[in-house]
Amino acid sequence: MTKTKVEILRNYVGGKWIEANTDNTQEVINPATGEVIAHVPLSTLEDTNHAVQVAAKAFETWKEVPVPKRARILFKYQQLLVNHHEELARLITIENGKNLAEAYGEVQRGIENVEFAAGAPTLMMGESLPSIATELESGVYRYPIGVIAGITPFNFPMMVPCWMFPMAIATGNTFVMKPSERTPLLANRLAELFEEAGLPAGVFNIVHGAHDVVNGLLDHKQTAAISFVGSQPVADYVYKRGTNNLKRVQALAGAKNHSIVLGDANLENAANQIMNAAFGSAGERCMAASVVAVEDSIADEFIELLTEKANNIQIGNGLDEGVFLGPVIRDNHKERTLGYIETGEKEGAKLVRDGRRDEAAQQEGYFVGPTIFDNVTSEMKIWQEEIFAPVLSISRVSNLEEGIDLTNQSRFANGACIFTKDGGSVRKFRETIDAGMLGVNIGVPAPMAFFPFSGWKDSFYGDLHANGKDGLQFYTRKKVITTKWV
Ligand code: NAD
Repeated sequence: MTKTKVEILRNYVGGKWIEANTDNTQEVINPATGEVIAHVPLSTLEDTNHAVQVAAKAFETWKEVPVPKRARILFKYQQLLVNHHEELARLITIENGKNLAEAYGEVQRGIENVEFAAGAPTLMMGESLPSIATELESGVYRYPIGVIAGITPFNFPMMVPCWMFPMAIATGNTFVMKPSERTPLLANRLAELFEEAGLPAGVFNIVHGAHDVVNGLLDHKQTAAISFVGSQPVADYVYKRGTNNLKRVQALAGAKNHSIVLGDANLENAANQIMNAAFGSAGERCMAASVVAVEDSIADEFIELLTEKANNIQIGNGLDEGVFLGPVIRDNHKERTLGYIETGEKEGAKLVRDGRRDEAAQQEGYFVGPTIFDNVTSEMKIWQEEIFAPVLSISRVSNLEEGIDLTNQSRFANGACIFTKDGGSVRKFRETIDAGMLGVNIGVPAPMAFFPFSGWKDSFYGDLHANGKDGLQFYTRKKVITTKWV
């Protein structure tokens, strides 16, 4: 397909849709079909600087808008997002590949972030003490910090941006977003609907592109804070460069999430949950289940159950009825995944289910069927590294303690789950596991908007996490006033 047949996306700056100052573009591809659906410009430093300047100017007036008035725009925005729920979900499936039900759920998660941010009048309230000493009082007031830059990954084109800009904007900041160049379409719809809700020009801006835009945002004197979500090496880079430039940075990184299935667990529930968590969204979730430590006594039975469920998964275009497993994002990501499957075999893991053999994996689009390895050990690459695809590793352990020890060897620590009916085991797991988001008898322990998304170790760099009260604090600063009435 030639460039003239599909749209070249524009940047959204100062309330206007403007062309990037470059001919350098990249194809946006529907991963289920290989079809080119748009071209995304790789904007320049000049484009980035312009957007930050516009956002900085808008900050001067936006920060003065009373908080309830700002919140009213978010209420309107929430309603518009609800009205466009189906349309947004379809767009996610087309550019990302996840099935329509999952995309629908993602839109819902995004809307919940807007709802949470609309509570800004309450969230932004300060604190006071009328008598810190004789006739002396103190109070804390909360203020926005300026221009926030958001840099987002391909796997949640709606939910992850919504972790950032609704709260940042509701608290009085202005925002420049750089969406993933692989899934840039949804961001533009989010901006159009925000404008329709009455957001003033310049408060929310989008600059499409890749490294140059990111570097421009990290280096610009007028960006006060950086919210990043993406892979570990890039999170590390963004955190170091951003903090070196004395900015606030929260960098949510990659993951390798572990589950422990004990002998007393409800195995039917555990298999259903892990099947969904490992193969849902084609394993392209930072909260995907990637390793399961199964107690020896039930390992054979559990693996059989899981394999049976995996065999019944429908693979295909996520827009089609009944499809559970869509494609991975690009052909090179498919190649990388197949490389990991070969590595797992070479490392001596037992390939129980080979997703390369599924019929869909031979067709157009970037499909890999559900893949399950047994007898995986912590020395293996497939245990250590984030594959970000429908590949699940199973390790056998003799008891809970061994499962916890094994899990705690991982450099990543986003989520961890336990499957058991025993309260004592749950308590031991909660107290000794090194991970920030825990699940009991559930597969994807992703917190809702009002709780922090709290990865540990190499899954997060920074102090204040995204969402919840952490998100509010990240996007605001405080003044403490001490007064003597004389
Ligand atoms: P990615 O790191 O490739 O890209 C993320 C963003 O960084 C994109 O906007 C991209 O343009 C930019 N980027 C990429 N390379 C860069 C570089 N060298 N210099 C500057 N900018 C660069 O991540 P992805 O593949 O889009 O997303 C998947 C990753 O995101 C996975 O590792 C997943 O675990 C992680 N993720 C983490 C969370 C979390 O909450 N911890 C949530 C979602 C996704």
